[in-house]
Amino acid sequence: MSSEILSTGTPLSEPEIRLARAVGVTNPERIRVSMVPALPLPVDPELRAIALQTGLLSPGMVGLTLGHGIYVCDGYVSSRLISHECRHVYQYEMAGSIKDFIPVYLQQIAMFGYADAPLEIDAREHEIDVA
Ligand SMILES: [Zn+2]
Repeated sequence: MSSEILSTGTPLSEPEIRLARAVGVTNPERIRVSMVPALPLPVDPELRAIALQTGLLSPGMVGLTLGHGIYVCDGYVSSRLISHECRHVYQYEMAGSIKDFIPVYLQQIAMFGYADAPLEIDAREHEIDVA
């Protein structure tokens, strides 16, 4: 999914690149954003049920970051959402790869729940609202 976003998505605008740098992203020019009607859920029924039960993916969610690829639901682009998702990009960069990030992130979601996962708290604390 990440490589699909990277090959079809849109680069960040100049103001968005500044937001990405402000939240710590090393390579903001690598980021691509893909606008989608809804965030993709796993096709596998069991995985899909787990993703929904754990709160990893919920109907109210409007952004999802996979490495340098960001999914945003149509109509929900905002500096706050972009800065939040870019902070996840920073977290991926710190982890080194998607493969290294995902197990840590999933374990936090399983242990603390979505709202209280330290990586989510960190992303919320780095949201930037530009009026
Ligand atoms: Zn988040």
